[in-house]
Amino acid sequence: MKYISTRGLSPAQTFSEILLGGLAPDGGLYLPETYPQFCENNLNAMRHMNYRDLAFTILSRLADDMPLADLRAIVDKTYTASVYRHTRAGQNAEDITPTVKLVDGLYLLSLSNGPTLAFKDMAMQLLGNLFEYVLAKTGRETNILGATSGDTGSAAEYAMRGKKGIRVFMLSPHQKMSRFQTAQMFSLQDENIFNIAVNGVFDDAQDIVKAVSNDHAFKAEHKIGAVNSINWARVAAQVVYYFKGYFAVTQNNTQQVSFAVPSGNFGNVCAGHIARMMGLPIKKLVVATNENDVLDEFFKTGVYSPRTAANTYHTSSPSMDISKASNFERFVFDLVGRDSAKMRELWGKVDAGQAFDLNAAGVFNKVADYGMVSGSSNHANRMATIRQVHAQYGVTLDTHTADAFKVALEYREADVPMLVLETALPAKFEDAIVEALGSKPERPADLAGLEDLPQRFVVMEADVNAIKQFIVEHTA
Ligand SMILES: *Cc1c(COP(=O)(O)O)cnc(C)c1O
Repeated sequence: MKYISTRGLSPAQTFSEILLGGLAPDGGLYLPETYPQFCENNLNAMRHMNYRDLAFTILSRLADDMPLADLRAIVDKTYTASVYRHTRAGQNAEDITPTVKLVDGLYLLSLSNGPTLAFKDMAMQLLGNLFEYVLAKTGRETNILGATSGDTGSAAEYAMRGKKGIRVFMLSPHQKMSRFQTAQMFSLQDENIFNIAVNGVFDDAQDIVKAVSNDHAFKAEHKIGAVNSINWARVAAQVVYYFKGYFAVTQNNTQQVSFAVPSGNFGNVCAGHIARMMGLPIKKLVVATNENDVLDEFFKTGVYSPRTAANTYHTSSPSMDISKASNFERFVFDLVGRDSAKMRELWGKVDAGQAFDLNAAGVFNKVADYGMVSGSSNHANRMATIRQVHAQYGVTLDTHTADAFKVALEYREADVPMLVLETALPAKFEDAIVEALGSKPERPADLAGLEDLPQRFVVMEADVNAIKQFIVEHTA
């Protein structure tokens, strides 16, 4: 199976060929030429598999140019109980993504039991092991450059720490992340991890990464790589837990379930779309946004109107504060019937800072065929939801999961279980929980005193040349 670009002007490639890259050369995103299918018999065989067997079964269809024994070893190493140990009381870490039943038909799918307490670990841990494997095999190395406002950077660092052939240069806005997020990243003492606190805001850090990526000569000479959310392997890894969640709350494969997904860059819910296209009986995919509601606006009106960075709100569910949803292009490719000329036209507008309207193109009415619905949430909703779920079910939600829970209730149906994807543990966003509940959330025992550990980071000006110089000095 080969991967093709949504823009249609790049050659088809294998999984291993696109693994280390980001965008296709034509500016598009990669998707399988055709989605592998799991039929009724396959689903029956998968129903009682543990997470590792399930991940191997699904990923072997998506990474079909990798030697099976090697993929098996990587999957086994990635999805082990010791990595996903931050379970809630009563959960079994062996389940990797256990469910929490709140009431009949309403569940949480725990995706945040990994090292950094956010769902990004689910994919990033696999990516770290895949990168190390491919680099060792080809005798290459890579210097990952990224910008983070919190969750992505820490997930990347915990996935890449100590890995051979990989260095991570992670830019973050100086003194703008939560104390917990800062401590999580800066307390890493691994020699291949470089934390660079940039004087400025997140967009300044992001701009530096873009400028370096656009300097093709520098990028090639210094082997600059990325682990951003458009990376196909990250999306592929996330497909697995939709299957796991489905099997956990159903008895047979005639049943349908719906998933509510806290969404920002659309990577998580895009994996749900792909699971559905591969044959998983999903009724609805509920796209939940915060005040940054570009996606909700699209699913309600058919108009996709990305905001500028200056028009992006800083909210109490910060990991969903996006102005453009980078993985959205993958879904629209399927929606427009995989018409790459149409995609070039639509993203020509997006790249020029304009909106597009799919009503005019006569495709918006097809959204319902894909089960996509949406809603949004704001700070007051978030606080009320955290209080309500705590009072009713004795469970503390983080702010992102609360956004999804709020919207999930708007789409619940009798006889269709609803799984709300838990994308972070509340310990990660203590201040918001204190505001909602008046007390701090429980923190996993192994992270007690995290903020008191010695920190390793440098502070730099938001200056592209200075950052380049830093990279050169530390990769020699
Ligand atoms: C990244 C993130 C999201 C958004 O996920 P996307 O794949 O970008 O849609 C939601 N919640 C948390 C906690 C995150 O870290």
